Amino acid sequence: MLIGLAATLFRAPPVTLYTFISRFSPNSHGFLSITPTRLFITAASLRRDENKEVDDYAELKEKVENLGICCNSVTPEEYTRLMCPKCKGGRSMGKCLSFHMSSKRNSALWRCFNIECGWAGQIPHNSMASDGVHQLGRMNFPRILTEESLKLEPLGDMLTAYFSKRMISKDTLKRNHVMQMAGDQIIIAFTYRRNGMLIGCKYRTLEKRFWQEKGADKVLYGLDDVREADEIIIVEGEIDKLSVEEAGFPNCVSVPNGAPQGIASKELLPLEEDTRFSYLWNCNECLEKASRIVLATDGDLPGQALAEELARRLGKERCWQVCWPKKDELSIYKDANEVLVNLGREALKEAIECAVPYEMQNLN
Ligand SMILES: [Zn+2]
Repeated sequence: MLIGLAATLFRAPPVTLYTFISRFSPNSHGFLSITPTRLFITAASLRRDENKEVDDYAELKEKVENLGICCNSVTPEEYTRLMCPKCKGGRSMGKCLSFHMSSKRNSALWRCFNIECGWAGQIPHNSMASDGVHQLGRMNFPRILTEESLKLEPLGDMLTAYFSKRMISKDTLKRNHVMQMAGDQIIIAFTYRRNGMLIGCKYRTLEKRFWQEKGADKVLYGLDDVREADEIIIVEGEIDKLSVEEAGFPNCVSVPNGAPQGIASKELLPLEEDTRFSYLWNCNECLEKASRIVLATDGDLPGQALAEELARRLGKERCWQVCWPKKDELSIYKDANEVLVNLGREALKEAIECAVPYEMQNLN
């Protein structure tokens, strides 16, 4: 409201005046506190500012309209819900695009909250210096991820060789946008995308240490590959997803957070509390279309617990389960990549094709 008052004063007839303008800044607890700042404004500077703002706004409006966003109803410094030109609101047909314009009306930032769309952008593109963008950052607006902002680069020789040993080809790496972190360390970056847009990233060192980009929505790895799939294969890790692709099945996704230690509780948690499996609900629009889901999780106990957790959420009647081939008399191969490396593409393909109905495999 104080900003609104200031804006009214800026549009008032040019006079010399004193006014108070509030500067919002979060205190150490993350709450906004208000610090009054005294400004001396001359008539000439008022006119100059006013003209510049009109020009900036006209330019911004044109750019935004070229993208299909209508910003006539937008008030600077407020979040306005608009129609998303990319998804037109998806199934809900609602105004799912959150749009924000800076106080000077020279920069804008937006993100679509339709989970299947997620379109986001900003103008100017490198506007980190503009006050509007800084304020959004403080207010925990979902981050806009880019390969540049995450400092990602194409895979170098060392990691390409590492993947080659694990039988993952350059073509598969490229198609899945597997990258590496720029810098001295050797770190794989598995990029998570939805509708082609970067929405998350999981890092992995060669010593098998994992971490993820904070604040990203939890989704399945490879989601865009199962968008129209009638049959979906689910694995337990990104490298298994790449392995299954090497065996001829691109219609495969990986869970983003591995396997649980065991089956959590007999009763399913209500949706909003089911955080460990939120990726299933976030990707439901793709999953619900599939008539057959092949669970190809690891052959160990956590892998079997994961299969059970997935099956009870996805519906056991449409789930099949892969049984990994025997390694020797006492043990079996652990996962898709082990089968690929030790037995080859054909063996992995056969294991997936021989999946058995989940309920038949788990009679108890
Ligand atoms: Zn959208």
